[in-house]
Amino acid sequence: MRSYPKMSRQFVGIVIVAFLSGCAASQPRVASAPSVPVASAATAKVSASAATADLQTLVNEAHARFKDVRDGAPADYIPELAKVPAELFGVVIVTARGEVYTAGDVDYAFSIQSVSKPFTAALVMQQQGSDAIAQKIGVEPTGQKFNSILATQIIPQVSVNPLVNSGAIASVSMVQAKTAKERFNTILDFFDRLSGAKLKVIEDVYKSEAATNQRNRAHAYILAASERIYSDPMEAVDVYTRQCSIGVTAKQLGVMGATLANHGVNPVTNQKVIEAKYVPKVLAIMMMAGFYNESGMWAYTAGLPAKTGVGGGIVAVVPGNMAIVGFSPRVNDAGNSVRATKAIEYITDQLGLNLFGAGK
Ligand code: GLN
Repeated sequence: MRSYPKMSRQFVGIVIVAFLSGCAASQPRVASAPSVPVASAATAKVSASAATADLQTLVNEAHARFKDVRDGAPADYIPELAKVPAELFGVVIVTARGEVYTAGDVDYAFSIQSVSKPFTAALVMQQQGSDAIAQKIGVEPTGQKFNSILATQIIPQVSVNPLVNSGAIASVSMVQAKTAKERFNTILDFFDRLSGAKLKVIEDVYKSEAATNQRNRAHAYILAASERIYSDPMEAVDVYTRQCSIGVTAKQLGVMGATLANHGVNPVTNQKVIEAKYVPKVLAIMMMAGFYNESGMWAYTAGLPAKTGVGGGIVAVVPGNMAIVGFSPRVNDAGNSVRATKAIEYITDQLGLNLFGAGK
């Protein structure tokens, strides 16, 4: 057994037991929460406030531990993204009961970028059922970069999935609406309900990406040639670009993730946003493709469904339990935020949240 560097094993057990027993009161399905090292019955009798204080300590620790990491660089293929201060760094936990723990730059609105993709897939499932996503887009990881033309070209022999650009553009094209404007507003309204906030597009990011998104337009035309896009291709790219430019704070993204953790009910507003039966489908795609061509390594190290974006945001979901969010603009070659990845991995490891077994 490995020892915990900063927290005793018993202490971590106490945190989890106190935490899960609290969740169980309001959320019966928490029985499916990950198996974790469990403290003895005697030590489990600890107040929820102790668990609360210690999740805060852990978020603080994750922030302190990685704040000096300088690896990676802000994405600059969308020129506006290169202007976001590289030093920003925020870490958030939002539990399935709606408790929020934060450290660092958690109120800075950054562009959601690809973290939007699983949520739009959820909207499509909500409107048309989960088979529609499987049949009209696909759910296989590509093993290629998020904007790989090669992956899109080998359609339909090997399909894409809603978390790479081509599949996400197809996903947007499936949102039911009479006009592009109505389609975007339907997406924005859905994101508002997921986050419990009134979100808006960061116009400078939208303009910057719209002026430089030739590659996404190529994806859309290739999809059209294979009859795998379901609205006007250029209209779909525009709505997709707007969707990626929606501003969210790390805290708001935490609530969006916690809505997935809480089986589709926003734990802060108590509003049911996604049918519970679709949540496992969304999380499955996140597990297989949320980190793009690093999804295998992410599953290998963290073992949680997650989604990254080139704006520097990452949300990971512990079903029935919590969402963990990191935000920091410096991304690696795959387009995944370096500090956010490390912070989420650290918290996951400390709390033994790996869905495949804690290994502690
Ligand atoms: N809007 C970005 C793009 O289409 C999203 C990519 C990402 O976040 N990985 O390239």
